[in-house]
Amino acid sequence: AIPLVAQISTSRGAKQGLLIRSRPALETARTIDVVLFDKTGTLTEGRQGVETVVVGDGVDEDEAVTLAAAVEAKSEHPIARAIIAEAADRDLKKRRSAQFTAVSGRGVTARVGDTEYSVASGRWVTEQSIEVPSTLVAAAREAGEAGQTVVYLLEGDAVLALFAIADVIRPESRDAVAALQKRGVRVALLTGDAQPVAEWVGRELGIDEVHAEVLPGQKSDVVAELQRGGTSVMMVGDGVNDAPALARADVGMAIGAGTDVAIESAGIVLASSDPRGVDQAIQLSRRTYAKMQ
Ligand code: ADP
Ligand code: MG
Repeated sequence: AIPLVAQISTSRGAKQGLLIRSRPALETARTIDVVLFDKTGTLTEGRQGVETVVVGDGVDEDEAVTLAAAVEAKSEHPIARAIIAEAADRDLKKRRSAQFTAVSGRGVTARVGDTEYSVASGRWVTEQSIEVPSTLVAAAREAGEAGQTVVYLLEGDAVLALFAIADVIRPESRDAVAALQKRGVRVALLTGDAQPVAEWVGRELGIDEVHAEVLPGQKSDVVAELQRGGTSVMMVGDGVNDAPALARADVGMAIGAGTDVAIESAGIVLASSDPRGVDQAIQLSRRTYAKMQ
């Protein structure tokens, strides 16, 4: 009778948009202590848009957008898509780029003509000891406080411009977090994005615990850290970067609209992309395995 109950739960789950890829994952879901949510594409829509372009002295704004779009042409990151869309909205002529290199969790570089340009995170700019013009420092602070992701266009190691990029929090995320907290489950946020952006999203959603500026290779270390002392961790994510963390967690849950790598690393898939599915999975697990005892 036991497998039958689990089978019924699996099909009940499917109706709610929960694909159970691994039985042990469903069974463990009922004893989870912490749910760790990826930010971009999981709690937010991941469809980002350029809100502001701020240029340094003597830099033309359209030129900055043209160059940034050329550098991002081969990137599939939501930030790249936002910058390319901005160039298209402005009807800017495309410029050719070459020798594209993506630096994981930091940004991209490419050559346009004979010059090397980058679109870089604040962290990467700091790591390279590049000085940001004071006019851009103020704009960056303001954007960060408004929850916007800031990236810089660099020519070599000179900052030409700043792009403030906004994402939209999924309307269901607030309820998804509240339902878990009400159940007594701790909720935390994990992101490669800057601290102020993570804190802003945390404030919007009632999440106090944020792990920000975590490089792609370190996401699974954060999971391992939380697991110390026997804490049971569920990781929810959508991206290529999230796969090792999903695999490392006691339960890995992938957003259905996410990458194939994420889905393959997860025990449960949220076909609906609705983060409220996390609480539904825990509920389903508790009901299913309560019947068996
Ligand atoms: P997340 O954890 O939110 O999915 P990522 O690890 O993908 O974030 O990226 C972390 C940071 O690295 C981004 O916020 C951005 O600053 C920078 N970055 C990554 N890829 C790009 C890109 N193609 N263009 C510009 N910046 C990028
Ligand atoms: Mg991501």
